[in-house]
Amino acid sequence: MTQPTSSEFELIARYFARPAANAVLGVGDDCALVDVTNGMDLAVSTDTLVSGTHFFPDVEPETLGHKALAVNLSDMAAMGAMPYWVLLALTLPGVDHAWLAAFAKGFFDLATEFNVSLIGGDTTRGPLAITVTIMGEVPAGAALRRSGAKAGNDIWVSGTIGDAALAVAHRHGRLVLSEADYEEAVMRLYEPAPRVKLGQALRGMATSAIDISDGLLADLAHICRLSGVGATVELERIPVSTIGAKHVATPAGRAAIVAGGDDYELCFTAPANSRESIAELTDMLGVKLTRIGQVKRGKGTSLIGADGKPVKVDAGGFDHFRDA
Ligand code: ADP
Ligand code: MG
Repeated sequence: MTQPTSSEFELIARYFARPAANAVLGVGDDCALVDVTNGMDLAVSTDTLVSGTHFFPDVEPETLGHKALAVNLSDMAAMGAMPYWVLLALTLPGVDHAWLAAFAKGFFDLATEFNVSLIGGDTTRGPLAITVTIMGEVPAGAALRRSGAKAGNDIWVSGTIGDAALAVAHRHGRLVLSEADYEEAVMRLYEPAPRVKLGQALRGMATSAIDISDGLLADLAHICRLSGVGATVELERIPVSTIGAKHVATPAGRAAIVAGGDDYELCFTAPANSRESIAELTDMLGVKLTRIGQVKRGKGTSLIGADGKPVKVDAGGFDHFRDA
């Protein structure tokens, strides 16, 4: 077993023990204690970031602190849940105080913004990896599941799709962004804005939802599989940024947009009679919402062009074990 450093407890006290406003008991004991509201389901999720897989090793620690929490907040968003509590399991190659201070800043700045409390965790030595577990509440029975899409529903996405994956594609040499475009796109990769308010507003309106982490088509395929339906997405309707607009016509750009991930926007389905209420959410929340296609009977997701013909994309969603 890997033993943490002798300064483990100092390190926790210095960087991670903060008052937990919304918990009965926070960091320091064998367990944290939380008071779960009557009539609510407890929503729980965990996500790990591994160096070299989920982030470039040269990423700023403050960015990493933000992202580790953001991807978990995004899972709460996709479920329509209200996040309250987080646990942080950190595996560190060593104790680097500047790194820890910056990581904690990125983490707590976002935690404060979303009113979530760090109530516990684990600190070990080893190759850099960060696991965050998040817990929140959703009114019993009201969570947005992946399994509720119905044939005839509209398919929607929030924000714009593709910038994060365009930045990754640029880093991997699959396409070239201008320096200014890369700087802008990489911020979408590093500091995604979890759509927590949107997720909660969609309760009772959306029939299913997922956050886009592995790629638009791959994540939509999860909804389809679990809902027992198919889907058609119109390429021209997919909302892209001004950066995305410059690359959507190229094979690598298009692949990044429809199949790249990491935007952490929401993809959701809703009946056509919700169109007006969904449009109102755009103004209420200041988040662009775009209808990109339709849920169909049957199986599989297809991407079509303006002429209604299938568009080929040479990439699937991200799968850690594809070649395993
Ligand atoms: P145990 O040995 O019971 O697992 P630990 O020594 O791992 O306890 O942790 C001591 C306390 O510090 C616990 O309350 C734990 O939840 C908390 N903790 C450990 N690491 C972290 C961390 N990285 N962030 C927040 N809390 C942490
Ligand atoms: Mg422990």
